[in-house]
This record gives sequence, structure tokens and C-alpha cells, in this order.
Amino acid sequence: MAIVPQRRASKTRKRLRRTHYKLDLAGMMVCPNCGEMKLAHVVCKFCGHYDGKQVKEIKVKEGQEPKEAETKTEKKSKKETKKETKKTKSAKKETEK
Ligand SMILES: [Zn+2]
Repeated sequence: MAIVPQRRASKTRKRLRRTHYKLDLAGMMVCPNCGEMKLAHVVCKFCGHYDGKQVKEIKVKEGQEPKEAETKTEKKSKKETKKETKKTKSAKKETEK
């Protein structure tokens, strides 16, 4: 008689177990300053930080703002536009009355 496992792992159990089998990007880490992926033991090319210090200045190409500033301004502008629309709606209502 052949060897039979007492309880065979179902397809689902097997696949759930194997979800943890994945490759890491060798020598890569998340930058503690800006959160971008960077090479370990190398100055971050996005923010120029290394070991918690600004080591290198990052030149920004013309017409491109730094990422943080862009996102902030976008958020602000969105909020402002929302407020404006609300204001205009309320103003319209007032005029209708
Ligand atoms: Zn960085």
C-alpha cells in the first residue's frame, strides 16, 4: 500500500500558505524620509537624505515641482474649489429667494 497523508491540505489551504512565499527586492528599502523605494546603503535619489541627514541636493527639472509640494497644492486647490462651489450654490439660493 502506498503512503497516504492523514489529512491532505486542500487547494485553498495550500494556496493561502503560499501567499507568504514571495521574493523581496534584494538591496532595496523604503526611504525613512520620503517613503520612496531606494537602494540600501545609498543616498536616496528622490530626497537626497542618508542616515537622517540631507546629504545631497536634489535638482528639480524645470516645469516640475517637488512631489510633496505638488500634492499639497492639489489638495488645497480641490478643497478651495469645493468651498467655492458651495458658496456659489448658497449664493444662488439666496438670490432665488
Ligand atoms: Zn528619500
